[in-house]
Amino acid sequence: MKVIALVDCDSFFVSCEQKVNPELKNKPVCVLSNKDGCVISRSKEAKLMGVRMGQPYFLAKDEFPEAIYVSCHHDLYAEISEQVMNLLREFSPNVQVYSVDEAFVDLTGLKRLYKKNYIDLAKYIRDEVKNRLDIPVSIGVSSTKTLAKLASDKAKTGENGVYLISNAKIKTVLGNTKIEEIWGIGRNLTVLFKKAGILTAADLVAKDDSWLDKQVGIHALEIKHELLGEMVSPVVNEEKLPKSIQKTSAFGLFTSDLDFIKNQLNYHIHSACRKLRKIDCKAKVIGVMLRTKDFKVIFEKKLLSAPTSFEMEISDIAFDLLKKIYSPDILYRSTGIILDDLYSNKESQLSLFFDDIAQSKKEQLSKCFDKLEEKFGKNIVQIGFIKDK
Ligand SMILES: [Mg+2]
Repeated sequence: MKVIALVDCDSFFVSCEQKVNPELKNKPVCVLSNKDGCVISRSKEAKLMGVRMGQPYFLAKDEFPEAIYVSCHHDLYAEISEQVMNLLREFSPNVQVYSVDEAFVDLTGLKRLYKKNYIDLAKYIRDEVKNRLDIPVSIGVSSTKTLAKLASDKAKTGENGVYLISNAKIKTVLGNTKIEEIWGIGRNLTVLFKKAGILTAADLVAKDDSWLDKQVGIHALEIKHELLGEMVSPVVNEEKLPKSIQKTSAFGLFTSDLDFIKNQLNYHIHSACRKLRKIDCKAKVIGVMLRTKDFKVIFEKKLLSAPTSFEMEISDIAFDLLKKIYSPDILYRSTGIILDDLYSNKESQLSLFFDDIAQSKKEQLSKCFDKLEEKFGKNIVQIGFIKDK
């Protein structure tokens, strides 16, 4: 039996502005989108006043001149978001950052550690985030992510900002939950379900698996079972993204043999790419380092037009960089690769490249490398190169 919490920061952008500028507290504050286009975050007071989410600024300021309008500062929000997530990681080793202001926290088994029941534990976490970071959060707790998400919606409107959907409560909650309020059900699915007479979460779980599978697919089945309290989607604790990946080691001899150096470099490129793919990232900056016998470091880097995690692509660029810094008259002791400016595939504009056939072939080939090495051990695959004539 799992216990999962969804921690959701209240009016996050406004809360960040109020944290750094306390004069804004308890006032009708609205944060505007880039270039002050429209309202993207509202304080409680602004909501009560009637300012609408997404309302264009020029209309809002006429209709609600007494509200305070603030330009957005996404750098600030990202920084505070990281502080919140790091604090949550103090409570549980299993934290999945879902968005800038939301995270799933696996609380399973922590009841004993904190000597509190789960509702009190959620209250405790909420107080800690408020007291230490001055950011208000709502917390929903239940046995699956989908239910925790529902619980957090209820927590927001409730008294103390926390809400628990226990197994005993599931049935009642599902009966009171409209289909469009369920996490993962968008506009199209809502239309499809409503046509089939499915209006509430209770209606959805009453449908049999084969109907859902046939009409919608596995996605609907997953939602059904999550709503019933059976975990399908676990809390996935992503490794924190490193800022860059560096791979280097000494040759064990001094050499000015370019082919030898290229081979060494390829070895490092391969292991850097393996790491990159393991954390599901791509790099946009490639750097090559040479260290001379006298410990002098020579470095050259290049910014790519599109990020990559494919060794052959990186190796081509790295060899060009190597040529720029290499001299046949110098003895070297080591070489290394630095992959910088990393992008997570999850957040990325992946679709931009995905149509590209060449790109998808590279992805497939990389996956092949990784699978082979998973089976037969690291470096079973080595990347060769064509010797310069
Ligand atoms: Mg929020």
